[in-house]
Amino acid sequence: MVKNSLWVFHLNSGSCNGCDIEILNIFAPRNDVERLGIKLVGSPRHADAIAFTGPITRECLPKVIDALKAVPEPKVVLAIGACACGGGIWYDTYSVIGGVKELYRILKEEYNMEPPATVFIPGCPPKPEAIIYGVAVASGMLESKQKKTVYVEPEESVANEKLMIAELISETEKTRHFMPGIVIRGVEDEP
Ligand code: SF4
Repeated sequence: MVKNSLWVFHLNSGSCNGCDIEILNIFAPRNDVERLGIKLVGSPRHADAIAFTGPITRECLPKVIDALKAVPEPKVVLAIGACACGGGIWYDTYSVIGGVKELYRILKEEYNMEPPATVFIPGCPPKPEAIIYGVAVASGMLESKQKKTVYVEPEESVANEKLMIAELISETEKTRHFMPGIVIRGVEDEP
């Protein structure tokens, strides 16, 4: 059943340690993922996958890029937790660039690097079961239950929606609930 044993380099890119504790949890005797060939390694050069926890801080960004480049191809990124996926509650704070998507934008613009295959494991922190599932998908043990779908709203329905909003506004204008726009008067308009 096991197609590949996955060696993972874990990098805390700015985590509060909540996600890191859950990673340790999957190696503890209750889950013991080493029996499935999943192993933490001490160098990105020995890894098949790199696991980020936490948002990516500006301080960590150069180290994150160096570590990501050091993982041999074909590499997989595991974005563990809401922060690594999209910056979490820190996404727009001064010391943080965001999550891995923002990292990929920087890699594309600065180094012309295409984003590696990425497994997003949301949660704050994600449960150990969710991390195990994500790692199993990354290592080819399991097929992902999620398939990518992109919904594009048909132009006709956008036009209909705009028409509906215009009708609602014109109906509201006729009622006593209508709030007229604020007129700002200049000093010369004062009576
Ligand atoms: S997702 Fe939650 S637990 Fe994980 S690093 Fe962010 S704040 Fe901490």
